[in-house]
Amino acid sequence: MTKIINGKEFAQKIRNQVKEDSDHLLQDYKVQPCLAVVLVGENPASRVYVGAKTKMAAECNIITKDFKMEDTTDQDALLKVINELNNDTSVHGILVQLPLPKQIDERAVIDAIDVKKDVDGFHAINAGRLSIGGEMLKQAFIPCTPLGSLLLLKDTLPSLSGLNAVVIGRSNIVGKPMSQLLIEESCTVTIVHSRTKNIEAICAQADIVVAAVGRPEMIKSDWIKKDAVIIDVGINRITITKPDGSEGTKLVGDVDYQDVFEKSSAITPVPGGVGPMTIACLLRNTVTSAYRHAGQADPRGTVDVK
Ligand code: NDP
Repeated sequence: MTKIINGKEFAQKIRNQVKEDSDHLLQDYKVQPCLAVVLVGENPASRVYVGAKTKMAAECNIITKDFKMEDTTDQDALLKVINELNNDTSVHGILVQLPLPKQIDERAVIDAIDVKKDVDGFHAINAGRLSIGGEMLKQAFIPCTPLGSLLLLKDTLPSLSGLNAVVIGRSNIVGKPMSQLLIEESCTVTIVHSRTKNIEAICAQADIVVAAVGRPEMIKSDWIKKDAVIIDVGINRITITKPDGSEGTKLVGDVDYQDVFEKSSAITPVPGGVGPMTIACLLRNTVTSAYRHAGQADPRGTVDVK
C-alpha cells in the first residue's frame, strides 16, 4: 500500500524539537535564538512566507527581527543593513527573502551575509561545504527545502545507500543541493533538466524521484518505476472549474499525484508534503546557529533525523 509522507506532521515534530533545543539553550546558556528577516518590496507571496516564518519562530521561542524595506531600495542600503546584522551579536540567523527587486544583485547580497549566520544555506561558502561533504558538511548550513526533503526521505526509507535517485531540476536553491545531499547519503544520483533527452526513461530507473521543476503535474505514472519513493517539491497554483461552474484555483505539485499514487511506494502530497518542512528546517538551522555561536555542538546534527 502506498504511504502518504505526511510533511505537515513531520514538520510539527521538527518544530517541537526546535522549541526543546531553544528552551534548553536559554535555560543553560542564557542565549535565545534570534532570526533577522529582511524583506525588500511588496511581493505578496513573500509577505505571506515571512508572516508564516515569524509566527512559527515565536512558537519555537525564537526571536525574530523584521526589516521591511521599500521596493526602490538600492543595493548599498541593503548591504548596510546586512552589515549591521552581521555585527549584531544577538542575531544568529539572517534571512533575506528572495526574489529581490531587479536593481539588486542577489548573489552579492547573499554572499555579504556572515557565513555563520547564513541559515538559508545559500552563501557560496555553505554551498561549497555541502559540495565537499564529509566533515565540511558539519560546519555548513543546508538549504531548507532540500534539507526538509532529505529528512522526509530518511524517515521513510531504512537506508538510502546504493539507491538510484533522480532529481528533476538543477536550481541552486533546490535541485543542486538536493543532489549533493543524496550523493552524501551514497545514492547514485542523476540530475535531469529542461535540456535532458529521454527524461521519462531516466526517471523510470529511479528508486527515488525528487521533482523540483515548477511545471504543474508534469510527472506521470509511466515516468516512474513501480514502488519508487516520490518527493514532490513543486508548488504550482492552477486554475480550476468548480462543480458550480465558477472559476477557482488550487495548489498542485510537479507530480500528477492521482496518476502516480498507486505505482509509488511512498509519496509527498501537495500541499502538506515538502512545503511545511522548509520553514521547520529554517528554524532548525537558526537554533543550530545559536548553539554554534554559544560554542556548543549542533543539537541534532546537520542532516540527522533523531
Ligand atoms: P527553478 O525555476 O529555479 O528551476 C526549475 C528547474 O526545472 C530548472 O533546472 C529547469 O531546467 C527545470 N525544468 C523546467 N522545465 C523542465 C522540463 N520541462 N523538464 C525538465 N526540467 C525542467 O525552480 P526552483 O528550483 O526554485 O523551484 C522548483 C519548484 O519547487 C517550483 O514549483 C517552486 O515553487 C517549488 N519550491 C518549493 C519550495 C517549498 O518550500 N516546498 C521552495 C522552493 C521552491 P533548466 O535549468 O534547464 O532551465
